[in-house]
Parts: sequence; C-alpha cells; structure tokens
Amino acid sequence: MGRIYDNVRRILEELPPHVTLVAATKGRTPEEVEEAISAGVRVIGENYVQEAERKKAVVKSDAEWHMIGRLQRNKVKKAVKLFDVIQTVDSFKLAREIDRRAGDAGKVMPVMIEVNTGREVQKGGVMPEDAMALVEEISSLKNVEVIGLMTMGPYVENPEDIRPYFRLAREIFDKIRSLDLPNVDMRYLSMGMSSTYRVAVEEGANMVRIGTAIFGPRR
Ligand SMILES: *Cc1c(COP(=O)(O)O)cnc(C)c1O
Repeated sequence: MGRIYDNVRRILEELPPHVTLVAATKGRTPEEVEEAISAGVRVIGENYVQEAERKKAVVKSDAEWHMIGRLQRNKVKKAVKLFDVIQTVDSFKLAREIDRRAGDAGKVMPVMIEVNTGREVQKGGVMPEDAMALVEEISSLKNVEVIGLMTMGPYVENPEDIRPYFRLAREIFDKIRSLDLPNVDMRYLSMGMSSTYRVAVEEGANMVRIGTAIFGPRR
C-alpha cells in the first residue's frame, strides 16, 4: 500500500474515536479516493457537483459522499441525488430549493449549516449572528434535516490563530442544540483541515475535513 494509505492510517490512529474523518478529494483521482477508502476513510468530501458525479460513477468502494463546496441553486437537483449530506447550506433560499428537490425525490436530505466565522466576504456561510435564526427558519421544512454545523474559518499561518473562530462555531452549535427544534438534530460539528484539525478537535469538532495531509500538495 502507498503513501495515501499510510497517511490515512496515521491520521485515523491519532483522531479520537468519536471524530469522523472526511477526506477532502477535490482534484484527486478516483484511484486516490479508492486508496483512501481502503485505508479506512468512510466519508468523501467533494467541492463540485460535476466532479463528484464523475468520480462517484467510478469509485466502487462504499463511502458516504458529502458536499463541502459552495452549492449553486441550479445544481441542487443533482446534488440531492448524488450526496448523502450537504454541509454548506447558508441561506433559506438554498434550503428551500433542497427541500423542494428532496421532496420530488422522496427523501429527507441531511444538511449542515455553514457558518462564516471569519466574516469573510469571499467565503460562503451565514454570518455567526444569523445562524440561529436561519436554523429556526429551516426547521419548518419537512424534507430537510439539519444535522450540524460546518465552518472553514480564515486562512491562518499559525494554527493556534484559528482557535477563536472554532470556539465561536462551537458556541453557536451548543446554542442551536439547546433549542431542541423539530427537524434539527445537532450531531456534527465539522471544522478543521490539514493544518488545523488538532485545534479543531480540542475545540469540539467531531468531524474534520482533510485533503493535503492525506493526498499531498494539490497539483
Ligand atoms: C480543500 C478543503 C478542505 C481540506 O483542506 P486541506 O488544507 O487540503 O486539508 C477542507 N474543507 C474544504 C471545504 C475544502 O475545500
């Protein structure tokens, strides 16, 4: 077995057992994805609907597929078919479209709310102060189940510098969970990437999304 296999084994050994590893596979080949799955990855995170569609058609090993990139409303129909979870819901309009398409497909779509903890204009995600109201609004939709929160946080040189952003996501996560809303079951807090996942786990993440540390630098 190769380098990808070894990287996954090492990361899985290091992560506490309650933490789910999502392999972030944008730009990676189906063969690379297969190697990660063979080493124990159970969740694949894709950023683009079309790329996921192509890859999913050839990757035969069993895994969950999560949408972790920005989702355009005109791609929702396809996304609802392809993905097990959409992690990047950040508006009621998007949630309503997912609800409509999930209804057509006769399923309830598990989604997560992306929070823009760094308040960055170029990134997706609902503003931290608007997250609770958004989840309340979405909880009225029958074909969508909110299962957690996702955040990226700003780019940092020093992993320690992202801690306040992850802490903020955790606070919002706990607040929403305490509301006990219908169609909302706050199970997953998805945060932390290759350079920041240790800090994320310390701040309460139970899902980390890792690309480079598994597959190497992006080409
Ligand atoms: C690429 C990506 C990751 C993983 O980033 P790495 O630094 O390569 O580990 C995590 N989350 C999202 C949304 C991504 O697009």
